[in-house]
Amino acid sequence: MNEPNILIVDDMKANLLSLQKILKSTPATIIEADSGNKALTIVLENDIALILLDVNMPEMDGYEVASFLRDHETTKDIPIVFMTALDRTTENTLKGYMSGAIDFMYKPIDPQVLRSKVEAFLDIHNAKIQLSQEVNLRKLSEDKAIFLAEHDQLTGLGNRRLFHKKLKEEISRAKRHTSKFALLFLDLDGFKNVNDTVGHDAGDSLLKDLSKSFKAQIREFDTIARYGGDEFVIILSGIENEEEIVPKLSSLIECASKEYRFEEERLSVGVSIGVAIYPEHGENDTQLLSSADSAMYEAKKDGKDCFHFYNDVLNTKLKRIMRIDTLIKHALEKNELEVYYQGVIDLKSNTIIGAEALLRWQKNEELGFVSPEEFIPIAEANGSIHKIGIFVLQETVAFMKKHKDLKLAINASKAQFTKALFYETLKKYIDNKDIKVENIEVEITERVMFDEHDLENSYVGKISQLGVSLSIDDFGTGFSSLGCLKTYSIDRLKIDKSFVMSIPNKEDEALCRAILSIADALSLSLIAEGIETKEQRDFLLENGCLLAQGYYFCKPMSENKFRELLKRGL
Ligand code: C2E
Ligand code: MG
Ligand code: MG
Repeated sequence: MNEPNILIVDDMKANLLSLQKILKSTPATIIEADSGNKALTIVLENDIALILLDVNMPEMDGYEVASFLRDHETTKDIPIVFMTALDRTTENTLKGYMSGAIDFMYKPIDPQVLRSKVEAFLDIHNAKIQLSQEVNLRKLSEDKAIFLAEHDQLTGLGNRRLFHKKLKEEISRAKRHTSKFALLFLDLDGFKNVNDTVGHDAGDSLLKDLSKSFKAQIREFDTIARYGGDEFVIILSGIENEEEIVPKLSSLIECASKEYRFEEERLSVGVSIGVAIYPEHGENDTQLLSSADSAMYEAKKDGKDCFHFYNDVLNTKLKRIMRIDTLIKHALEKNELEVYYQGVIDLKSNTIIGAEALLRWQKNEELGFVSPEEFIPIAEANGSIHKIGIFVLQETVAFMKKHKDLKLAINASKAQFTKALFYETLKKYIDNKDIKVENIEVEITERVMFDEHDLENSYVGKISQLGVSLSIDDFGTGFSSLGCLKTYSIDRLKIDKSFVMSIPNKEDEALCRAILSIADALSLSLIAEGIETKEQRDFLLENGCLLAQGYYFCKPMSENKFRELLKRGL
C-alpha cells in the first residue's frame, strides 16, 4: 500500500511549517497549500486521505473549500479537520460542521492531540482501502465464476446454461416485436471416429477449430453455443423468411466438411443440422429445442451432411432451393443450359418477324427440367446470373449472325443492370459490328424496375444510349411510373400473359384495352404475350395490337427447330 497523503492548508507560511514539524514522524506524505484555490487543485489531482484546513483565509475561506469538496462525488468523503483561531462559539462550530468538517482543532494547536487525531484518521483510511480492495477482488472472482459457469472451457463458446438463458431472451424479444427467428441444432457426423482413431487431443483441436469457423458464419447478434460433446446450437435472430437462411445453412455444412489438421493428421467430419422456426415450430424454449432436435435426427436419416426443417412442406421446398442453388452454379460449365426461341408474330400478315430468347435448363441429371421462373431468382441471389446472362447474349448473337433480318429480344435481370459486365459485352458486340444495333432488344421486367432511384443508378440509360431498344416485360403486373417510360426511352411494352390468357373475361379485356391506349398515347410499340386461342388473337387485333407471342402460333423451341419453323413458315 502506498503512503497516504495528508493535505495541510493555511495562508500563513509559519503555520504550515509548524504543522510539518508536528507531523514529521507520521507515516504519511504531507502536501502543502497556501490558499483555498490551490487546495482544491491538489485535491482534484491527488488521492488525499485527510485535510487539515485553516478556516480563516483571504479570497476563499475554509468553509467555501469544504462546501466545494462536499458537493463533488470524488471528493465528498475526504475527512476534513478544521483548524481555527476563532472563538469556540456554538455558531462557529455549527457553521463548520454544516460546511462539511468532521472535527475541529483550536489554535494554538496542541501537537500531541493533533498527532493522535491524525493517526486515528489514517487508521480509518487504511482500513477503508483494504476493504475496498477485498470487495474488488471478490467481484472479480465472482465475474470469473459466472463466466466459467456459462462458457465451455474448451471452445470458449457459451454453454448449455447460457444458451437456455439466451433462448428465453430471444423468445421474449420475438414475442414483443412479433418477429421470427431460427433455432439450429447441429450434430457432427463422424466425430466419434476422429476420437477413436486419432485420439482425444485431435478431437479437441477439431472442436476448437470448428467452433471458430461456425462462429465466423453468423452475425454478431446471433448466438452460438456448445450444447454437448459434438453438438452445437445456433440462434439466428430476426429473420424475415425461411429462404433467407438457406445460404447460411449451406455455409455451415461447407465449414464442417472442410479438412482440418491436427499435427500431421488430416481430420474430416460432417454436420447434420435440424432447424426449427419460432413461433411456428414451438412457442417456448423446450418445444422449440425438441423440434430442432428431432429435425436434426431427420437430417441424419436423410444421409448426413445436410439440413432438415421441422416442417415437411417447408423442408421439401427449401431443400430444392438449396439443390438448385448448388447445381445452377455449375450448369454452364457442364453444358446444361440452352437458349430456346419463341417467335414474335406480325398479326396482320401472320408471319414471324422476330423472336424472344428464353433460357432452358433441362439437362441436369438430378433435377431434370427446371423452369426459369424457379431457377432465375436463385441465380440472381447467388450471383451466377451474371455469367448466365452473358451466355444467353453470346448464343443470341451467334443466332443473329445467321438470321440478319430477325429482331431478337433477350431478357435481363435487375442485377445485370447494376454491373458493367452486361452493358460492356453488349457494347463490344455492337462496336465490333457483330450485330446490328436495331436488331437487338433487351427486356426488363416491370416488377423489378419500378423504382426511379434504381433506374437512375443502373446501366439502363447507357444501354439505351447505345441505340438498343428496351421493352418492359410483364407490363401491368408491376408499378411502372409512366414518366419513367419516357425518361429511359422505353420503346415497347409487353402485355403480361396473365391478362391475355384469361380472355374472354370482361375485366382483363378492359385492362388490355387500357394498356393498348397507354402505348398509343406514348407512341410505344406493343406485344401481347401468351396468346393461346384464336379468340384471344382476334380480340387483340381488333383492338389495334399488331404483334404477339403465344402457344397459339408457336411454343419456345430449340434453335434447330426454330430454324426449321422459319423456313417452313407458320
Ligand atoms: P417472360 O420473359 O415473360 O417470357 C415469357 C414466358 O411465357 C416464357 O416462359 C414463355 O415460355 C411463356 N409463354 C409464351 N407463350 C405462352 C403461352 O401462350 N402460354 C403460356 N402459358 N406461356 C407462354 P419461360 O420460358 O418459362 O420463362 C419464364 C420467365 O423466365 C420469363 O418470362 C423471363 O422473365 C425469365 N427468363 C427466361 N429466360 C431468361 C433469361 O435468359 N434471362 C433472364 N434474366 N430471365 C429469363
Ligand atoms: Mg420476356
Ligand atoms: Mg413476359
